Amino acid sequence: MIVHLKKDADKSRIEAMAEELKATILKNGELTSLITSSSLKELNGEYEGLIDETFIFDTDIQLAHSDYHSGHREIKLGDNYIGGKHKNTLMISGPCSVESREQITRSAELCVELGISVIRGGCYKPRTSPYSFQGLGLEGLKLLVEVREKYGLLINTEVKDATHVDEVIEYTDIIQIGAKAMYDHGILNKCGKTTKPVILKRGFGTTLQEFVQAAEFMLSGGNPNIILCERGIRTFETKSRFTLDLCGVAYLKENTNLPIILDPSHAMGFAYGVPDLARACMAMGVEGLLIEVHPDPSVAKSDASQQLDFDTFRKLYASLGSIATAIGRKLI
Ligand code: PEP
Ligand code: MN
Repeated sequence: MIVHLKKDADKSRIEAMAEELKATILKNGELTSLITSSSLKELNGEYEGLIDETFIFDTDIQLAHSDYHSGHREIKLGDNYIGGKHKNTLMISGPCSVESREQITRSAELCVELGISVIRGGCYKPRTSPYSFQGLGLEGLKLLVEVREKYGLLINTEVKDATHVDEVIEYTDIIQIGAKAMYDHGILNKCGKTTKPVILKRGFGTTLQEFVQAAEFMLSGGNPNIILCERGIRTFETKSRFTLDLCGVAYLKENTNLPIILDPSHAMGFAYGVPDLARACMAMGVEGLLIEVHPDPSVAKSDASQQLDFDTFRKLYASLGSIATAIGRKLI
């Protein structure tokens, strides 16, 4: 249950009520709310004088539920907005990993050439082998900051575990929580305490309920700027790296109030399929696309097979605008 409290409700009574209901107290501007488990369906009459409005839910998807906040939340990213009344689809492009100053600078120059405002690049890479490139860590974050300063871009980079979450929160403009990291409560707790925008990637074995509940940890922690990212789930199929769950995206659009970003690169796993898939993603009417692009994919230190070269990306980008227009959106 979500309980909106009256503006003049007595602070000590609110605290006593929260304690008794085992509720989280959430402050948002003038509004103070209590969030309890969704199993609570009714309140004792003694609280009546404190309460403005109550919202009851079937499951613990509450703050993220479309019944609570209709329409997708508005999130500010630099000078741009996604969600809310803005029918924008934000392009986030860049390499899988930040590898060198030259590589990230060339990637930033491509963003500037195309008018893309957000560059991505991982510095802490959640690899499946201990012998693969693990990312440049802090050195990579500093290279991203350099291109932000030089080119006026926003930067998006991932956190893979709680040991470096503070660094990522400090340096980046948009925090990405990787698919393998989305259950890490050290990360979720810290990302709930900042108000920087967070892109939460869906784990490849994660149900939609679990996915949105992970977002709910950050929302109830006090961060309203949470974006969901579908990046493919594991199915019986092995010909593509993962299976992009567009049905799941339709569910999330209908039942949650969180902006949604689609990542065709990790879902497909092979560059040949990414442009078609990206166009299908655009046609889903989502708030953003995340696409891996590398100056020379053949030498990329991670996810080499799925990254687009610059020319392929230029052609793809040019084809996306008219799909956006056809569904009443704007590619930004
Ligand atoms: C990435 O964005 O490079 C990445 C590692 O993605 P995911 O967490 O979805 O595997
Ligand atoms: Mn990658």
